Amino acid sequence: MKSLLTFPKGGVHPPECKAQTQGLAIETMPVPDELELILGQHIGAPCTPTVAKRADVGEGGLIGEVTKGLGVPLHAPIAGKIKDIGMSVHPIRVSAPSITIAVDREAQPVQYEKQNWQQLDSAQLLAKVHEAGIIGIGGAGFPTHVKLKPPANSPVDTLILNGAECEPYITADHRVMLEQAASVVEGARIILKILGIKKCFIGIESNKPDAIAEMTKTAEQASSPDCTIKVEALQVKYPQGSEKQLIQAVTGRKVPAGALPSAVGVVVQNVGTAKAIFDAVVYGKPLYEKVVTISGKGIGRPANLQVKIGTKLKDIVDYLGGLQPGLSKIIMGGPMMGFAVSSLEVPVTKTTSAVLFLTEDEIDTRPHGQCIRCGWCLEACPMGLEPKEIAIYVEARRAEDTAQFGVFDCFECGSCSYVCPAKRPLVQFVRLAKMKAKRPQ
Ligand code: SF4
Ligand code: SF4
Repeated sequence: MKSLLTFPKGGVHPPECKAQTQGLAIETMPVPDELELILGQHIGAPCTPTVAKRADVGEGGLIGEVTKGLGVPLHAPIAGKIKDIGMSVHPIRVSAPSITIAVDREAQPVQYEKQNWQQLDSAQLLAKVHEAGIIGIGGAGFPTHVKLKPPANSPVDTLILNGAECEPYITADHRVMLEQAASVVEGARIILKILGIKKCFIGIESNKPDAIAEMTKTAEQASSPDCTIKVEALQVKYPQGSEKQLIQAVTGRKVPAGALPSAVGVVVQNVGTAKAIFDAVVYGKPLYEKVVTISGKGIGRPANLQVKIGTKLKDIVDYLGGLQPGLSKIIMGGPMMGFAVSSLEVPVTKTTSAVLFLTEDEIDTRPHGQCIRCGWCLEACPMGLEPKEIAIYVEARRAEDTAQFGVFDCFECGSCSYVCPAKRPLVQFVRLAKMKAKRPQ
């Protein structure tokens, strides 16, 4: 039997905690009375509103655009009236500029018509991806149309769709692959045409055998002499879904420090992003809704919910039966890389993959202690860094001297913090070091 693929260095095995939601079909949440859309949902310049207060907007209508620099437009997820252009609670930056839409209950949903994308060339397809406001919805929110135009001096020959979903609790991509396999695979074919290449791998961790079977069957049907799409089963190991680790697992190619995947001829896209590209190109539908896993013992009913971007956590909580006794922490994203939030006023953005409502027995509340020099964090780091040294320098107020330990190669996966027996907040130390250290030229 062929052994499962994985990356060679570091990695950890946190409890998977996916049983609560992995068997739950995607459910569409009714639209709440109001949506709050943060203007800076992506990496790059935030959008400038293109609508005024009290204006009427239609479903899918443009409400914000980026006029200068990196970025993507923003669209109304539903018909309604612009109630406010102000500030919203932001999961990381405390508050951020936003547009509030009061939903029009009388409006009919838009019926998108299927279009023949085969006649479009690469530039036309890329323009559609840009116009639809698509960003990497499984990660940091990098504009997809930029990622699909790699530098001319880095020829790309391979596309990898990321279906690893290695973070504990999260099952949104799992359900998308299981229930919408044909759309994901057609999205992959569109990306291949944009890039002008013929080879695609879809990496899926082996804890999703039903998704592997469904995607394999669909990929085989879609493959032809012009285009091969192949599913690769991956070992269950965190952070298998991070770009550099996924590329090394699937192709054996190692992305050099500080370089982009295109340096080794690869472009990586999340499976959910491929589905968004399908919607944009085949149906002309902008990105304004997504599947989010809601889990943890602190919520009345866990679910894989399709929600409109801008839906507030309080509306999700009301829909799913309220908060449960013992709730201790709310995390947006997974427990390894997500952010704790303290308000239910926070709205879902294009990059929200999960919201976890965790009770005390689901989190580690022990206080952190001194480093006992066990070396476990070094063994766990997939980038071969020395988190303990970085932490010691930060504590000694010498964060600016940490570039020598490769802090800029840290992608904040949290593996080091997870294994540390002293519970040292190593990722937080590294984040601080990255802010203060000087980037090598
Ligand atoms: S958070 Fe950074 S330092 Fe820690 S294991 Fe991950 S890559 Fe290494
Ligand atoms: S895992 Fe924790 S205790 Fe062990 S060396 Fe690293 S920082 Fe120190």
